[in-house]
Amino acid sequence: MGVHEYIDQTLEHIKRTSPGQTTFLQAATEILRNLEPLLSREDKYLKHRIIDRIVMPERTTMFRVTYMNDKNEPCSHFGYRVEFNSALGPYKGGLRFHPSVCLDIIKFLGFEQIFKNSLTGLSMGGGKGGANFDPKGKSDGEIMRFCQAFMYELYKLIGDVKDVPAGDIGVGGREIGYMFGAYKKLTNRFDGALTGKGLNWGGSLARTEATGYGSVYFAKEMLQKAGGSLEGKVCAVSGAGNVAIYTVEKLYQFGALPVTVSDSTGFIYDKEGIDLALLKRLKEVERKGLVEYVNEKKSAIFTPVSSYEAGKNGVWTVPCDAAFPSATQNELHLADIKTLYANGCRLVCEGANMPSTLDAIDFMLSKNDFLFGPAKAANAGGVATSGLEMSQNASMQKWTFDEVDNKLHTIMTNIFEDSYNTSVEFGQAGNLVLGANIAGFRKVADAMIDQGYI
Ligand code: GLU
Repeated sequence: MGVHEYIDQTLEHIKRTSPGQTTFLQAATEILRNLEPLLSREDKYLKHRIIDRIVMPERTTMFRVTYMNDKNEPCSHFGYRVEFNSALGPYKGGLRFHPSVCLDIIKFLGFEQIFKNSLTGLSMGGGKGGANFDPKGKSDGEIMRFCQAFMYELYKLIGDVKDVPAGDIGVGGREIGYMFGAYKKLTNRFDGALTGKGLNWGGSLARTEATGYGSVYFAKEMLQKAGGSLEGKVCAVSGAGNVAIYTVEKLYQFGALPVTVSDSTGFIYDKEGIDLALLKRLKEVERKGLVEYVNEKKSAIFTPVSSYEAGKNGVWTVPCDAAFPSATQNELHLADIKTLYANGCRLVCEGANMPSTLDAIDFMLSKNDFLFGPAKAANAGGVATSGLEMSQNASMQKWTFDEVDNKLHTIMTNIFEDSYNTSVEFGQAGNLVLGANIAGFRKVADAMIDQGYI
C-alpha cells in the first residue's frame, strides 16, 4: 500500500472510531497529509506504526464538575483532560472554558499541542483540557467555586513532572489562581503543576504577553526572509483576549498599525489604530464587551456580529496588509481569505489555534506572493514561555522580563528557521505548514521509536 492510501485509511479509521469529531479530523487531516513526503522517504515511521499510535491519546479523562451558583443552585458541566503524548516530556497544554468545549475540540487542541510543543525545542509532551462552562457573566464567587470543583478531579492527574495545564480561552490569571489554590489544598504541595501563575507565586514575567508577542516575532521572521518588514503595515487582528491584546502591543512596537479587534459580539475598526490602553482596560480590568469601545472613542466603528454577511467574518472585510487571526478555530474561511487577498492582504499569521479552514490554507499556499504562518509554529510562544516558567519553578529562580522575552524571541526565530529549512529540505520552500508539521512530528516520532511499544 502506498503512503497516500495508508493516510486515507488512517483518516477513515478516525472517522469510524471517533464519529462526529470533525474538528479533530480536520487537524489530523492537515498534519497527516503533510507527513506524506517524510513517510515516503523514511519507512521507519510506518514500520513502527507511529501514525496509528500518534492519533490516539495516551489517556482521556472525562468528568462531571458540579458547583453552586449564586442562587444556590447546583450546576453541572463536562470536564476533560486529554493526555495525548508524553514522548518528549510531561503532558503540557492549556485548559479551555467555553460553551463549545467537547471531546472533539479538546482532542483537536491536544493533537496540535504535541507538534507545537515539539517545535519549541523544550521538554514538553502534548495535552489539553477544559470544560463546557462559560465564565462570561459569572460572578467572582461562581468562577472560584467552578475552578475548585474542576480541580477536585483534575488534581488526580496533574503534577510538575506529570501533566502541567495552563490557560486557554476563558482561563486566565484569575482562573489559574483559584485552581492553584485548590490544587495546593488537595495535594499539600506547592509545585509547578500549573503555568500562567501569578507573578508573586511562581508565575513567569512575560507569560501573559508571550503568545501575542511570539506571533508577531514569527511574522517579522517571515517578512524578513521575504525581504520585507512590519514597519508601516496596516494589520487586522481578530480576538480581544490576551493573544490579540499583546499582538496589538507588539505590532505597535514594530511600527505597524493594528486597526481591528473583535469579540463574540462584533468587531471594532479604528482607522487611527486600536487604542491599546482602552482595550486593556475594557477587557482585562472591566471585562466588558467591545461595543463599549466606541462610547469612548468616537472615531471607531463597531459592527455587530448580526450584521456580518452569511458565512463571513466581518473583521476580514477591513482592507489590510497583514492579518492576525487571534480569536478561535475556524474563524477564517475561504470566502474571508479571498476578500483579504482582493483587498491587498499578503500575510496571515495565526495567533489562535487552527483559525483557518483547510480550503483557506490551500488558497494561501497556492499564491506565491503570500506568507502564511500556521498556528502550531506561530502561536507556540505561549506554551514556550510556560516551559520557561517550568524551568524557573524547578530551579527556584525568577528571570527578568527581558530575560524571558529574549528567550521567547530566540525560540520563535528557531521555530521559524526549523520550519523554513524543513520546507526547503522537502522541496517546498516557504510552505511553513509542511515544514512545521514535519519538523514537529519528527522529534516526537523518533522519541516514540526510542522508547519502544508502550
Ligand atoms: N493554550 C496555549 C496554547 O494553545 C498555551 C498552553 C500552555 O501554556 O500550556 O498553546
